Amino acid sequence: MTGAPVDDASLGGGCLCGAVRFTVPHRPPGVSTCHCGQCRRFHGHVGAYIVVPGDSVAITAGDSLAWYHSSAVGRRGFCRTCGSSLFWRGEGSGELEIAAGCLDQPTGLRTLSHTFVASKGDYYEITDDLPQYPANGPGETPPA
Ligand SMILES: [Zn+2]
Ligand SMILES: [Zn+2]
Repeated sequence: MTGAPVDDASLGGGCLCGAVRFTVPHRPPGVSTCHCGQCRRFHGHVGAYIVVPGDSVAITAGDSLAWYHSSAVGRRGFCRTCGSSLFWRGEGSGELEIAAGCLDQPTGLRTLSHTFVASKGDYYEITDDLPQYPANGPGETPPA
């Protein structure tokens, strides 16, 4: 994972209106995009996520945080005030996936791969040279 600055500072993030705010203490290796149909509906387009240990994330403002059980294996966190799509969490998983778009700039992160390209939308092309995976990327928990 070259390119990211050597920086152990935490990452901050939050929703559009600021009612949900959080801090991630350690920078993840990078961002993975998910092209599955659920992510496209939830985010309005492709999902882009960092994956971090769920218990490491400090929710510093969460009164408007709500969860939608989008499938038997996962739920999605969003702000009930402004509608921002923020999180995905697998049931029983210790990891939390955070939408990269809600991170404060600069993140110092780079996008590393595309997942669930087998179910991507038909209205766009993937035009970069990053690795593409039909479903989960290596070492990832099941999505949806
Ligand atoms: Zn909000
Ligand atoms: Zn997805």
